[in-house]
Amino acid sequence: MTLRTIEGESYIKIEESVLDAIYEEALRVYPWEGGGFLFGNYSEDRTVVYVKRILKPLNMRATGISFERVVDKKTFETIYDEEGLIYVGEWHSHPNGSSLYSSMDKQAMIRIAEYPKTLIEHPLLMIVGVKNRRVQEYSVYMYDNQKLLRYEQSGD
Ligand SMILES: [Zn+2]
Repeated sequence: MTLRTIEGESYIKIEESVLDAIYEEALRVYPWEGGGFLFGNYSEDRTVVYVKRILKPLNMRATGISFERVVDKKTFETIYDEEGLIYVGEWHSHPNGSSLYSSMDKQAMIRIAEYPKTLIEHPLLMIVGVKNRRVQEYSVYMYDNQKLLRYEQSGD
């Protein structure tokens, strides 16, 4: 799956296995909210983000309206050492909701992007809307200077 920003300046490529894993987890925890981390890498010119795997948080507290996670630094390092992949963003589900981000989601992404240990400038946020035990839609956003830009489906 290839997505791009409206300006066509940056692209994201998500492997099918990653989409499958996200859908599976979102449906498994339904009607609660689920989520986790996205790992991947960038093209040399930084215009393409490749999302290659997910990681479940060590600990999560899902309340149906908010999703909190505990960062597992050791596993982050292991994934980098063994697979060469870095943290590129987050995903979570919206049970009985759309894939639009909430104001809380935006605030959370600002905190993540401004956290000194976040080494990337433009973390991704992927939101999966789940209804009637089915994934209805998903959206991917790129954080950019306190804004979330939505990626559009690309032709290829
Ligand atoms: Zn949300």
